[in-house]
Amino acid sequence: MRALLCVKAQQLLSRGFIHPVRPSTAVRWQAAPSKLFCSSPPDGNNTPPSMLRHLTSKIKATGPIPVAEYMREVLTNPVKGYYVRNNMLGPEGDFITSPEISQIFGELIGVWIISEWMGAGQPKQLQLVELGPGKGSLASDVLRVFSQLQSVLGGASVSLHLVEVSPALSLLQAQNLTGNRSQEADAEDDPVYRRGETDAGLPVSWYHQLDDVPTGFSVFVAHEFFDALPIHKFQRTEKGWREVLVDIDPEKPDTLRFVVAPAPTLASTSLVQADETRDHVEVSAEGGVIVQQLARRIIEDGGAALIIDYGHNGTKTDTFRGFKGHQLHDVLASPGSADLTADVDFNYLRRMAGGGVACLGPVTQRTFLKNMGIDTRMQVLLRNCSDPSTRKQLISSYNMLTNPAKMGERFHFFSLLHPSRLAKPQKPEGLKLEKKKSPAPLPVAGFTELKFA
Ligand code: SAH
Repeated sequence: MRALLCVKAQQLLSRGFIHPVRPSTAVRWQAAPSKLFCSSPPDGNNTPPSMLRHLTSKIKATGPIPVAEYMREVLTNPVKGYYVRNNMLGPEGDFITSPEISQIFGELIGVWIISEWMGAGQPKQLQLVELGPGKGSLASDVLRVFSQLQSVLGGASVSLHLVEVSPALSLLQAQNLTGNRSQEADAEDDPVYRRGETDAGLPVSWYHQLDDVPTGFSVFVAHEFFDALPIHKFQRTEKGWREVLVDIDPEKPDTLRFVVAPAPTLASTSLVQADETRDHVEVSAEGGVIVQQLARRIIEDGGAALIIDYGHNGTKTDTFRGFKGHQLHDVLASPGSADLTADVDFNYLRRMAGGGVACLGPVTQRTFLKNMGIDTRMQVLLRNCSDPSTRKQLISSYNMLTNPAKMGERFHFFSLLHPSRLAKPQKPEGLKLEKKKSPAPLPVAGFTELKFA
């Protein structure tokens, strides 16, 4: 299997397994700044006032609200939420993401998925589940790899499942992935709210939450999804841990401000670790619940999860920030008009995943993509591309994804795997091999360097 995987990977990367560069998708945007490279708050304010009104009436009615509730309302309120109403991705939007920068990113994830499917013994069914698919670009690049590697996937029955809270983005995804072959599902008790079919006839379904996705062998991908989930913020005080809340500034009635809760809240007593050494902590309880769901599904049905985001290993403190028009934006100003985000705490995710699944990483994006053979893939694309401006764009997007000073070291790859995936293969019964070591487990692509046979 190891040799097979290595040979396949080499074929994939060196033979130009996918269409050569197509300027429209190879480099979707000139390397515009991502969320990482924002510097100053924007001028002007074109926010619809309704989200602020909604929040101030809520606060007047119930008192100051946790940051998690603020973030949830601002981002995913079903009527006025930022994600629900906007198409925020790309140069015209508020931020740019790796799948939007280069097709290579999604292609290498496609190769990773196939190698994990092979590592799991090539089950008959493969569900690709993406959480927060944005414009659908990553899924589309992955499916293109699947279709080029049809001979490897053999008779596996592949389906695509998208967990997306935003009606606006789900329409964009449907357009990108199915053209006009999708429709709203209107049965009230149907957890699928849209279904469709790709060009190649693969079924695609949309859900509001992970719980609704059918069980079965699945590979889950979440790119810049966990950073959008609500966080609680806690501050160490002389009296112990206190939750940070959002309140109305008494001096300026249309302005919000942070306050520290005068007494412990349920969240401050349950979400801060007893041995915490930092003075300020952010915890995404929602992220923790989703990781628990992923872990449970992987243990019960097999599969893997790949979580890609900027984050830390339980070391950072205040990372809550807003982005609007590729600039940093005050998180409490004109709520609903800007993206809100916080670094992902991979230590916390690992703890919430529990001991039943194997966790790998986080490794930096640069390491992962290099281990997956991005350099070989770049050479193939450049060899097949003579247009100087497309070549320039290819090189600049490669640099954006891998340069340590750009996205290369800020973004991390973290994976949950079925425990059997890393278990040492059993020695055949009756064979006397005492002097030899047991064979090593098969390597997991991306987290270890691929060795070409
Ligand atoms: N993965 C894409 C988009 C990242 S933006 C990319 O990298 O380009 C975050 C995505 O998650 C958006 O599609 C947003 O609508 C979705 N999202 C945010 N919060 C969500 C939630 N609670 N449930 C489901 N989707 C959510």
